[in-house]
Amino acid sequence: MTIRFTMDKITRDGDPVLRKVAAPVPFPLSAEHAQLAKDMMTYLVISQDEEQNEQYGLRPGVGLAAPQVGESLQMAAILIPSADPAKEDPEPYFAGVIFNPVIISETVGRGALDTGEGCLSVDQDVPGFVPRSKKITVRYQDENGDTYEKTLRNYPAIVFQHEIDHLHGHLYYDHIDRQHPWAVDDNTKYV
Ligand SMILES: [Zn+2]
Repeated sequence: MTIRFTMDKITRDGDPVLRKVAAPVPFPLSAEHAQLAKDMMTYLVISQDEEQNEQYGLRPGVGLAAPQVGESLQMAAILIPSADPAKEDPEPYFAGVIFNPVIISETVGRGALDTGEGCLSVDQDVPGFVPRSKKITVRYQDENGDTYEKTLRNYPAIVFQHEIDHLHGHLYYDHIDRQHPWAVDDNTKYV
């Protein structure tokens, strides 16, 4: 596996590409966009491998959106590990690159990771809850242009929302209440 994106290629907060609304990806996918998708997924696979991530100095990630590698395109690689890692050869919960994703429904009920969120593009730790929809249905295309609808809850729902935010120029800390970063209302549950 050859790695194209290392931490020095990841765009950081302050780069205008992270605040732009990304352009839709046309289908059939160009060879260039197909390669970009592969390279983004390779980052995630290697970043989750304890030995290799050290070798390349990668911060572990479960998601990487195209603007984070300087491409203002609506695509994001997502690699969510198995919820049951004790199983032998656990299959990831989700592994794939989503293209042109749209959240088509979401619950009013909110969820937030009890540790807050982090982002490969944000070097400083911005503490606080990031309330998001606890359950979403997302429509997206895969690399073949086939359209899928997927309903996600809890942690996977949060990961998808974080990545889709990147395609609209939003960063996770935009959602943090700076006055009361760890305050939770009755509608928000820890995930
Ligand atoms: Zn991020």
